[in-house]
Amino acid sequence: MQTILPLPTIQSWDCHTCGTCCKEYLVTLSPAEAQRIRDQNWTKEELGGLDPLRTKGGLFSKKTVINHNADGSCVFLDGSGRCKMHAKHGYESKPLPCKLFPFVLIPTGRGWSVGMRYACPSASGSLGRPMPEHLVPLRKFAEELLNREEMTPNPSGTCAQVDAPIVEGNKGLDWEKVRALAKGLALPLLDRDSPIGLRMFRVLILASDLRKAKLANLDAGKIDDLCAILAGHLPASIGKDRMEQTPKPGWIGRVLFRQLAAICLRKDHGPNRGLAGQGRVALFGAALSFVRGKGAIPKMHKWLPDAKFDVGELAVEELPPEVERVFERYYLMKFGSLQFCGPTLFNMPFWEGVDLTLLIFAVQMWLYRILRGSMPEMEAAQKALSIVDDHYGFNRVLGTFRQRLAYQILGSTGQLERLVAHYGA
Ligand code: SF4
Repeated sequence: MQTILPLPTIQSWDCHTCGTCCKEYLVTLSPAEAQRIRDQNWTKEELGGLDPLRTKGGLFSKKTVINHNADGSCVFLDGSGRCKMHAKHGYESKPLPCKLFPFVLIPTGRGWSVGMRYACPSASGSLGRPMPEHLVPLRKFAEELLNREEMTPNPSGTCAQVDAPIVEGNKGLDWEKVRALAKGLALPLLDRDSPIGLRMFRVLILASDLRKAKLANLDAGKIDDLCAILAGHLPASIGKDRMEQTPKPGWIGRVLFRQLAAICLRKDHGPNRGLAGQGRVALFGAALSFVRGKGAIPKMHKWLPDAKFDVGELAVEELPPEVERVFERYYLMKFGSLQFCGPTLFNMPFWEGVDLTLLIFAVQMWLYRILRGSMPEMEAAQKALSIVDDHYGFNRVLGTFRQRLAYQILGSTGQLERLVAHYGA
């Protein structure tokens, strides 16, 4: 039986049938899932004149996906937000991606960790039953995922056999040690007396201290202890003044940051599609605007208000407590589930994944500044998390060589620290 590692109680979820996922995403099918849908014998009359399936991609990357209406919504979505396949053939007949969303299963050695996609409003709002109450279906999903992806089970048959992410500077750390390191790295996030920007800045400082440590000779318990000692000193040694004294990001830092922001804002599919609907010339113009960082922010996503780049640079007064909590929960989930590196983040090594995650935080805070001018603060926070989370771990561009080089440049030149201090302040 598949083992699900202890599930966090800070996160709740239940589907509230808002239909967002059925409008926003293309569902790629395994050959068995595609055949199962063909065997259901859907007629065009039942699906608004469309076929249930279509193919996508070139000669060597052809995939079968569920067909969509012109507005981007799934052909199986009915007028009341329900799934026609579920209604006619039952829940189990649906493809795994539809059942699994918004959960993310991460193979981490002896069991699966579970992350959450905040593109689902019920996930970002933490609406529903606490995650531990979803244990039984999650076990089934893990079994199904293992078979669907033809993954090799570990020797005890409790999880897929996947190598632990590389921890740069420390060869061959196993999953137990990597889990201890991730848990320790998240310790600054638990300090609710400090604002989230300062907490994330302390994560960055803790990461730079731990990067220098020789962890290979320590067992998981000792890594726990080391993290607790280093994190314990942070509230006294790293305060708001340290963030304020950090120099502002330089030109290269800002250009690479805005380039990352452009990637994270771009919405190419579904009802919130932005400029992508206007063709390549519009996208090229938008890319130039993000390099310049002046004037109006191109509408890469429908949720973006009319705003200028300057708005993203405005200082933020104290965040409301509920906004603090939603950012805290998001990052505790990312670190706790190990979704921030390895198999669910383009196989990125551990510290590289930490750097990208800190950059993602800076992008979300920048976006929060822009959104809150036109909507309540909590809605702005949830939308900022949702827009960016749509890409985190799912948009392959974030894992390309060019982007990884950009993260390395930002990290090695101190620009990452400046960006987190600047946008987290
Ligand atoms: S986005 Fe979330 S709440 Fe909405 S239908 Fe999908 S799973 Fe349910």
